[in-house]
Amino acid sequence: MTGTEAAADTTTVPFRFFGLTVVRTRRLSSSLLRVTFGGEDLRAFTSGGRDQSLSLFLPHPGQSEPVLPPETEPDWFAAYRALPDDVRAAMRSYTLREQRRVADGAETDEVDIDFALHGDGGPACRWAAQASSGARVVVLGPAIADNTAVRFRPPEDADWVLMWADETALPAAAAALEWLPAGTKAKVWIEVQHADDRLELTTAADAEITWLVRDEDAPAAVDAIRAVPDAELPGGTPYAWIAGESSCVRALRRHLVQERKFDRKRVTFVGYWRRGLSEEQLRERAEAETEAEAEAEAEH
Ligand SMILES: Cc1cc2nc3c(=O)[nH]c(=O)nc-3n(C[C@H](O)[C@H](O)[C@H](O)COP(=O)(O)OP(=O)(O)OC[C@H]3O[C@@H](n4cnc5c(N)ncnc54)[C@H](O)[C@@H]3O)c2cc1C
Repeated sequence: MTGTEAAADTTTVPFRFFGLTVVRTRRLSSSLLRVTFGGEDLRAFTSGGRDQSLSLFLPHPGQSEPVLPPETEPDWFAAYRALPDDVRAAMRSYTLREQRRVADGAETDEVDIDFALHGDGGPACRWAAQASSGARVVVLGPAIADNTAVRFRPPEDADWVLMWADETALPAAAAALEWLPAGTKAKVWIEVQHADDRLELTTAADAEITWLVRDEDAPAAVDAIRAVPDAELPGGTPYAWIAGESSCVRALRRHLVQERKFDRKRVTFVGYWRRGLSEEQLRERAEAETEAEAEAEAEH
């Protein structure tokens, strides 16, 4: 989803802008901080659940709200990019951990976003660490449940599900596990930094969850998963969902497709961040790669 797509027609497209206000924050563990948002706008917010993602626009220190071009800009994303770096809102991808509807007349609906705090402290991490009640943000999020920012989609004929997530994708994995139908066989690896990041997860699925804690010298995810013999995995056709740091995602995808012979069309993989690159740099690099590929294709 890009700003351009959403801004093209905010009445018919599946995504639109929502102005939200922080209601409260809660530390879930050493690495994870939950920020709960409310606001009248949330009545139209419609999450598809699972790994529903959204774009969060955050103010810089000293700004009372995120600075964005008007929604009516014909090329909204170009107008956003044309604003000076230190003025335009920081744009970062996050997962909608939970949406709670409240009855008419009560206080506003609420949504939770769980932030993995990290030492490299980008604008989102810094904003979350200091967020307090009343802080204002803008979200480009779903207006209909069936939207393309839900990627966790096991095919109906999948016999079992393999999942890997690091702490940035733990909110998505937790929501996907809550969504999985009762009895679905699932093998899940979740990689976190600290022992107390092992959150309690709720699922009706028949899920075996392995926590890989870096503080406890856990092996790299690809080695941990490679060490499991095929005979110890559920039988039948798998669906895999892997999300987190890009190089780990790449290594795992290669393992599943090349060594385990998973059907590549049944492996959903999403790089949530890349070590050493901010989200803008990651986006710019992806755009440059797409352009280079298009040029190479045009030449042949
Ligand atoms: C679809 C999607 C959903 C996501 N959902 C969530 C979510 O629910 N919760 C969540 O916490 N993150 C989530 N992420 C990841 C998040 O967008 C990135 O971690 C993002 O880079 C954080 O922004 P920042 O401003 O803190 O750091 P940036 O300015 O983007 O990066 C600054 C530096 O920090 C490093 N960095 C970024 N994240 C981490 C990290 N976790 N650990 C160590 N170093 C890091 C970067 O490599 C860079 O060197 C999601 C990403 C995607 C694509």
